[in-house]
Amino acid sequence: MIQFQNVHKWFKTLHVLNDVNLHVKQGEVVVVCGPSGSGKSTLIRTINKLEPINEGRLTVDGMDLLSKKTDLNRLRAEVGFVFQQFNLYPHLSVLSNITLAPIKIRNTPKKEAEEQAMQLLERVGLAMKRDAYPTQLSGGQQQRVAIARALAMKPRIMLFDEPTSALDPEMIGEVLAVMQDLAKSGMTMVVVTHEMGFAREVADRVVFMDHGVILEEAQPEEFFRNPQHDRAKQFLKQLL
Ligand code: ADP
Ligand code: MG
Repeated sequence: MIQFQNVHKWFKTLHVLNDVNLHVKQGEVVVVCGPSGSGKSTLIRTINKLEPINEGRLTVDGMDLLSKKTDLNRLRAEVGFVFQQFNLYPHLSVLSNITLAPIKIRNTPKKEAEEQAMQLLERVGLAMKRDAYPTQLSGGQQQRVAIARALAMKPRIMLFDEPTSALDPEMIGEVLAVMQDLAKSGMTMVVVTHEMGFAREVADRVVFMDHGVILEEAQPEEFFRNPQHDRAKQFLKQLL
């Protein structure tokens, strides 16, 4: 589904992705971790072309992201993205937040879009909040709406960039539970997170980044039991 081959990216002189090779198969859940500034956000932002790559090859569900022919609308519809800061539309109700893109971009009839949105709200446990506005919701609820909104486009891949980092501790679990449920349903997921419990339980693989390089890639059990690099050891120690 996602294939990085010798990918490089620079911000001016800063080498932010350095020879990245990563393959994610359909239905796999990959957790990306590493110190702040190591390039995790940039890595996942390249997958839906929020950031273009400079060198190498990146294909996503058969689309070559360096090709000028790549249909950006199709790519963005197939790849859902959940941000740390929720990014809901503040002036729209929960229901309208979810139906906006399906109606405007997929041309889904309003009634059908609303039915689908209600199913998604059931799935994330927020059907009773359909008419609420984002400011009336807790952070955990807003993030669950943001996940429902991304799912409304029927993506084949879901990307998460530290989805629980802005949440109060008591709300982290409810968001991770929704993500775990999504993983069980077979969604292909790339998740930047420091929630190592989630990584251990849900991930098929853990990727550890440092200074734009993928230093380690292993099954969670292996990564936690026996990290290979000092940087990874330090990183894990400091999370405890
Ligand atoms: P992480 O998500 O692991 O904290 P990022 O991918 O956000 O790391 O950033 C990696 C490096 O690239 C950092 O040094 C950051 O300051 C830099 N960076 C990120 N975005 C930009 C940008 N748009 N322009 C210039 N530098 C950037
Ligand atoms: Mg980041």
